[in-house]
Amino acid sequence: MPARNILVINCGSSSIKFALVNEAQEPFPLSGLAERLGSPEAALHWQQGETRDSLMIPGADHRLALSQLLPLVQRAAGGELHGIGHRVVHGGERFTAASRLDEISLLAIRQTAPLAPLHNPANLLGIEAAMKLFPNLVQVAVFDTAFHQTLPEYAYRYAVPEALYREHGVRRYGFHGTSHRYVSRRAAELAGLALGDSSWLVAHLGNGCSTCAIVDGQSRDTSMGLTPLEGLVMGTRSGDVDPNLHSHLARALGWSLEQIDAMLNKDSGLLGLSGLSNDMRALEQAREQGHAGASLAVEVFCYRLAKSLAAMSCALPRLDGLVFTGGIGENSPLIRSKTVDHLRLLGLHLDQPANARCVRGVAGAIQADGSPRVLVVPTNEERQIALDTLALLDA
Ligand code: ADP
Repeated sequence: MPARNILVINCGSSSIKFALVNEAQEPFPLSGLAERLGSPEAALHWQQGETRDSLMIPGADHRLALSQLLPLVQRAAGGELHGIGHRVVHGGERFTAASRLDEISLLAIRQTAPLAPLHNPANLLGIEAAMKLFPNLVQVAVFDTAFHQTLPEYAYRYAVPEALYREHGVRRYGFHGTSHRYVSRRAAELAGLALGDSSWLVAHLGNGCSTCAIVDGQSRDTSMGLTPLEGLVMGTRSGDVDPNLHSHLARALGWSLEQIDAMLNKDSGLLGLSGLSNDMRALEQAREQGHAGASLAVEVFCYRLAKSLAAMSCALPRLDGLVFTGGIGENSPLIRSKTVDHLRLLGLHLDQPANARCVRGVAGAIQADGSPRVLVVPTNEERQIALDTLALLDA
């Protein structure tokens, strides 16, 4: 059988990120982004091999953008597209794994929308458009939450009245599951351990950040909760704050729920702490030049990350390794080093030359002699979504 091609789609409210994944080939034959959909500036950008190109598609919606994309995909796939994998943010308790899209699963995704009012409706826009455009292709939804459905109840329940859980689904779900799953499998391969008998801490550090405890290939705890706001300091998200902050701001400053929501999700995190940027690269540069806000943002980020990893270690029977991934985790020796400095009680120490070498897609072990493993493992959510789609094609 020739190697198969899967189109992976990640739909936002005004954007579509896409990648064509070939099962036998490491680089993606085609990848890109449709952005500003629904506006006069709507545009499609793509990369094929070394070639980059763009097309203005003024006023295009998701369906029109996908139809413009179709000939590019068909050409890059040599006319052989085998399926489409859609990233869906929230699968609630209904989805514990990827699911073939049909009327029943679509209805269940729609019913989950109250848990992710910004994300799931946007994901659905892409799914509905793709199902109309490609009615004969197998399409699969892959959920950010599904991997964490193995959390024990004592890890996923909040200490709030039971009815909120039973009647309204108020519990911890966790996100970034596709990435945590992918890198834990890769980590076991790199370490020469059986995934089914391994025990990892994973730090996914991108614009969104989360930690995860993974035992025998299953998620046992994770730092994000009902929404992706819980847990670590992120690019623009605060992570954990005192839950009474909401009522304090409402009473003391007269802020509305919308204002508080926007502040915690869009104006906080690295951006809020530094007063400068949500981008770790920019903060590292500013810190070098003595910017106090950038310096503080880096310190808070690393300390809070280390605290979360130490908390996650409660879920492990032993530590086979700590894994760094995501844009920051894969590229920042400084953040890895500062974080591990706070984790001496776990016996972790880095080999600094190895730490410096693992950047820009280089995977490897960076621990010093005598320390438990510390690995840098580039994530690849698109490939994992394609693998899940292929598995359902074969089923
Ligand atoms: P997303 O969550 O949107 O997929 P990424 O995983 O690409 O984001 O991560 C983006 C973050 O990675 C940004 O904060 C960016 O500054 C950071 N990053 C990328 N390269 C470096 C680098 N060389 N040093 C420090 N941070 C980096």
